[in-house]
Amino acid sequence: MSAIDTLPPLREVIASHQLSARKSLGQNFLLDLNLTAKIARQAGTLSECDVLEIGPGPGGLTRGLLAEGARRVLAIEKDPRCLPALAEIAAAYPGRLEVINGDALEIDPLAHLRPPIRIAANLPYNVGTELLVRWLTPRDWPPFWQSLTLMFQREVAERIVAKPGTKAYGRLALLAQWRAEARIVMSLPPEAFTPPPKVSSAVVHLTALPEPRFPADAAILSRVVAAAFNQRRKMLRAALKGQAPDIEDRLISAGIKPTERAEQVSLEAFCALARELER
Ligand code: SAM
Repeated sequence: MSAIDTLPPLREVIASHQLSARKSLGQNFLLDLNLTAKIARQAGTLSECDVLEIGPGPGGLTRGLLAEGARRVLAIEKDPRCLPALAEIAAAYPGRLEVINGDALEIDPLAHLRPPIRIAANLPYNVGTELLVRWLTPRDWPPFWQSLTLMFQREVAERIVAKPGTKAYGRLALLAQWRAEARIVMSLPPEAFTPPPKVSSAVVHLTALPEPRFPADAAILSRVVAAAFNQRRKMLRAALKGQAPDIEDRLISAGIKPTERAEQVSLEAFCALARELER
């Protein structure tokens, strides 16, 4: 019996369903149910929420989310080999786990979820970053989710929470921090996973803010930040030359020195520049 429920330990689940980890699907499993319960607790109070989990695999985090009281979990998993193991969890928590077999990048989960909604996932890094960017850039704000609790490579987690003047600061930090509160809430060594990946990981928790921190048009902000960081070593007057013929004046009006580099510019100043470019 495991620590959090009456289902078999995950090593047994993996052995009985022959779930050898596939590199092509970024499979590094979490088998310690105390650890998955701890990650689930970082997602906040779950009892009133539907939780969207991407990439449940053999179901370690899924079991954590259910044991922590999630009202319902919708789990989207690409690997059909995981479905029998997930069906056993669904049977142990009647009516609380729905599993969809498919690619999370192609499935719209909204029809299957009832607000309030939280998202939790331990995903391959490339899929995780792409989904994070999508979740942070919906057409309307506030988004459909209240919070995101996501495992990333440590280096990506640091890019999400980075502050100006650091190497990790860039588009991801600005995108995440403009309309969400982002914190690293856990660090995990490679040995926490089976098989262990090459690098350390971290869990990032993001809470959606009701309003952006500073007003700006999302498309203009995104365009100017992309241009600034595409040439992050250049002075802004050069990196942003294509944005407006009088870019130096607009930078000055936004309170930014034209000789500064993107890395030195705060979120507030980028938003001011986006407003200047909208005039
Ligand atoms: N959540 C499990 C855990 O913590 O042990 C598994 C984590 S493993 C890092 C990533 C999981 O995401 C795998 O089960 C993999 O099959 C699944 N996956 C990979 N790409 C996916 C995609 N595009 N859509 C849905 N699931 C995906």
